[in-house]
Amino acid sequence: MEKLVITVSPNGGLITKEDTPYVPITTEEIAEEVRLSCEAGAAIVHLHVRGEDGSGTGDLNVFKEAVSKIKERCDILIGLTTASKLNAPDEERLSVCDLSPQLASLNMGSLNFGEVAFMNSPDYLRAAGKKMQECKVKPELEVFDLGMIENAKKLIAEGLISAPYHFQLIVGAPGGAPATPKALLSMIDHLPEGSTWGVIALQNQLLMHTIAIGLGGHTRVGMEECIEIRPGELAKSNADFIKRLVMIAKELGREVATPEEAEEIFSLPSRRFTSVK
Ligand code: ZN
Repeated sequence: MEKLVITVSPNGGLITKEDTPYVPITTEEIAEEVRLSCEAGAAIVHLHVRGEDGSGTGDLNVFKEAVSKIKERCDILIGLTTASKLNAPDEERLSVCDLSPQLASLNMGSLNFGEVAFMNSPDYLRAAGKKMQECKVKPELEVFDLGMIENAKKLIAEGLISAPYHFQLIVGAPGGAPATPKALLSMIDHLPEGSTWGVIALQNQLLMHTIAIGLGGHTRVGMEECIEIRPGELAKSNADFIKRLVMIAKELGREVATPEEAEEIFSLPSRRFTSVK
């Protein structure tokens, strides 16, 4: 089985210091958490940044500052979010591709995320696919249900997403597929042949990730998805989640990939991020 690629999602755009004092908000705090996560075994960071008021921002200067501070500390691969602010204009969302990260998230459809509609229109999907091809950024195809996998297949057929494909299967999100083995296995069954895939679990995380590790998938973990390491116990660092996954992988006989190995496993463009420094 190929090595396990662990992605850390240290903060997302919504978790606040009121939710947990341990969530990194400033670029300094983010970079430090990423360093600890990388040391623990994370090969990729899925990055969100925050503005001065602490809320999610798509400001490219803040992204650059965070990436620069991360790169001073460790060798982790960089993936940027295209969902810094819910339902920001399409062009603003896709402008992170101009920074030439190795990966960027591409949400493959719309859903009712609790009480909020998270919009990803057909026009947006096509624009995103095209932009990521132009910028040579690998899309992380984030799917919240089976229908979104079908949306991805449609874009693939239109030539707007290039092989090899990498899917992030998201379970347990409000309005998305439930975090059950049956739902997860069904999503895996419907992926285009030869795809790599990872699991993002907002609920039932330990079981979902253990299934992913056992079946040859990959994992993303961090305070964006979950702030508690165990029910009622806040994680003090994102590295705590990574350490636990590394331990499970070891017990299941699966080695953990370094950033170099992750680059090869996901067929990523070589490290550039030329806009920084
Ligand atoms: Zn995110």
